[in-house]
Amino acid sequence: MSRISGSARLAGVVGDPIAHSLSPALMRFWIEALDLNALYAPFAVPAAGFDSFVEGIAESHIAGLNVTLPHKEAALALSDTASKAAREIGAANLLTFADGKIHADNTDAAGFLAALKPAKIKYRQSTALVLGAGGASRALVYALLTSGISRLILSNRSKSRAERLVDEIAPMAAVVDWDQKDNVLAEADLVINATSLGLKGVDPLQLDWKRAKPGSVAFDSVYTPLETEFLKGARQRGLTGVDGLDMLIGQARPSFRAFFGREAPILPPVRPALVAQLGDEA
Ligand code: NAP
Repeated sequence: MSRISGSARLAGVVGDPIAHSLSPALMRFWIEALDLNALYAPFAVPAAGFDSFVEGIAESHIAGLNVTLPHKEAALALSDTASKAAREIGAANLLTFADGKIHADNTDAAGFLAALKPAKIKYRQSTALVLGAGGASRALVYALLTSGISRLILSNRSKSRAERLVDEIAPMAAVVDWDQKDNVLAEADLVINATSLGLKGVDPLQLDWKRAKPGSVAFDSVYTPLETEFLKGARQRGLTGVDGLDMLIGQARPSFRAFFGREAPILPPVRPALVAQLGDEA
């Protein structure tokens, strides 16, 4: 158990619902590994109360908050200053408080790139197929663009949402109808599920993996369960599969640094503790 005194550094995560968030376990693991005088707490706050909650807490000595569904856009809207990533993605998952000001950042894009690092993707020579056009997709598309991705294909059930995303942040991307996505699978070096398909209790994302390019990489933003039908299909085809848990860990590292002024330790690894927490779902 880490030590807590009156001068402890405080931070938390705000969302609705929040009970199933892995962030408290993740942050606590690192706090204990470094034996910090620090505390990270979950806050369940409905949309109607979000602004007043954050504005109140920003006046206190709390260092900052992670922000999850459904508050990421509202978090950006109420901030005084925002990073380029948060502004371009149009959402914030990290708020920090200093000198009476609220600063917004988005670390989802960095988390995604950290998760893909072991796959050693040559972005400047690669085509990415991104499935989905919601909040997660915007962060992943931003990450791919900042990494110099050569070609980007976007497909979403509601085509107009994909077209809006392209207009706003990715003018070089092509939009493909949802029922045509298998026809472009062979062109993709990186295939990304940024939809909520595959989440526990939701239908799986079905693709015709026989048509995938050999040697390509499949990334699933979903991590409950860890082994989705999407990743199973990709691995059966011999592709490299990367799950969403490493993105969750990757987005938490810059938050930890911002809250507690220390790098989150690499060792001991936090992933096995989170996999254990996911339990049977993993
Ligand atoms: P969102 O903004 O609600 O977007 C949901 C996306 O899923 C949209 O593209 C939506 O398409 C699509 N979708 C939903 N049901 C569908 C269906 N039946 N058929 C086809 N497409 C469907 O959600 P989000 O915030 O982007 O989250 C997307 C996923 O990313 C979630 O699973 C979330 O858990 C995950 N995520 C993971 C991390 C991480 O750290 N690993 C971080 C953030 C999010 P329409 O536009 O047509 O509705």
